[in-house]
Amino acid sequence: MGLIVQKFGGSSVADAEGMKRVAARIVATKKAGNQVVVVVSAMGDTTDELIELANAVTPIPQGRELDMLLTAGERISMAILAMAINNLGFEALSFTGSQAGVITDSVHGKARIIDVTPGRIREAIDSGAIAIVAGFQGISQDTKDITTLGRGGSDTTAVALAAALDADVCEIYTDVDGVFSADPRVVPAARKLKTVTYEEMLELAAAGAKVLHLRCVEYARRFNLPIHVRSSFSPNEGTWVVENHPEGGTMEQAIISGVAHDKSEAKVTIVGVPDRTGIAARIFQAIADNDINVDMIVQNVSAAATGLTDISFTVPKAEGQKATGVLQRIQGEVGFASIIYDDTIGKLSLVGAGMRSHPGVTATFFASMADAGVNIEMISTSEIRISVIVREADVERAAKAAHSAFGLDADQIEAVVYGGTGR
Ligand code: ADP
Ligand code: ASP
Ligand code: MG
Repeated sequence: MGLIVQKFGGSSVADAEGMKRVAARIVATKKAGNQVVVVVSAMGDTTDELIELANAVTPIPQGRELDMLLTAGERISMAILAMAINNLGFEALSFTGSQAGVITDSVHGKARIIDVTPGRIREAIDSGAIAIVAGFQGISQDTKDITTLGRGGSDTTAVALAAALDADVCEIYTDVDGVFSADPRVVPAARKLKTVTYEEMLELAAAGAKVLHLRCVEYARRFNLPIHVRSSFSPNEGTWVVENHPEGGTMEQAIISGVAHDKSEAKVTIVGVPDRTGIAARIFQAIADNDINVDMIVQNVSAAATGLTDISFTVPKAEGQKATGVLQRIQGEVGFASIIYDDTIGKLSLVGAGMRSHPGVTATFFASMADAGVNIEMISTSEIRISVIVREADVERAAKAAHSAFGLDADQIEAVVYGGTGR
């Protein structure tokens, strides 16, 4: 008998039919003799709709209240799913994140899990029931307020619970057959990856491949927990996220595992910054003090005549207003000329462990951008990733071009998008 944690995303439980389909799948796993813990997301686009509702009454909802509102989405799902399972003659008990022992810090909207104490979940499964847990939420250790883990955070709930319960596997059920070499909604020729390493998946997730939440991959790697990403709409074997590609696996030789794109960032440019020691530290300290995540940073060479430079960086669009507000408050002290805010950018990234040993990758990548007529505005690299900022309108064309240039296109279309709106 195994212990399996299964997570079902919003598109898998978008309506009553979806709930019944998922319930049958869970029951089948239980019938096969396993203990089953299920993590569930809000139905369909519920989370987006709740955010729109909040924004209809206030431009900047209070973090505490927004988290209280959004966690209601997952509560609806967990209760409906438990009822659907009960209707099939199996016992299911639903739990909020707090009841499941998901303890977080107190940063609303992107809380980090600091401990998982799943006593009630263990009790439920030991008594023979199926435990259903609301994803994406926890309770702050300090304030005892309800928190959320950031968009897409149910994946992290599932992996954290799987680690705490010492589960055999964490299955992430979604609306595509696994992790592909690109987002199948954008690059129809994307190929399904049989395996992807934690390292590659971390880079893909950080680069915007939202099929897995970044923190869930960090967590799985820390606990060496295998993740199986697969579709809830098909019986197909999905993608295994593991420490190493299996010996002799075809992916072992692949230089590039995939491309990822991200339209969720904005670019902030600080114009006319005095080129002096300590200035960058002052600027980015102020940004960090306000819990704003900075991604790429580029500083120009300062003009000899003026001793002034420009600094550009990217932040999540959702934090753009906050970032420019912070900068305005320190403008007098730092003495820069102005701020330019641009939220019509997109990021394209190429990821692959083979980059380490293949020096020609950058040249091929940039040539593919040039051939596609895409202008590169910013560049950043890690050991196994190259990312560029381009115009938002160019990013999908750029993704297709890079995918082809590295020979990743499938001979026959194999990527199926089973559901969801891609929101
Ligand atoms: P869920 O609601 O199940 O959590 P998400 O919408 O968060 O699903 O994630 C699944 C989606 O991720 C897919 O529908 C697909 O559009 C997108 N995606 C982005 N990059 C990839 C990739 N490399 N492989 C598979 N899916 C990807
Ligand atoms: N419902 C949340 C969201 O839409 C969490 C999740 O789906 O993982 O972001
Ligand atoms: Mg998701």
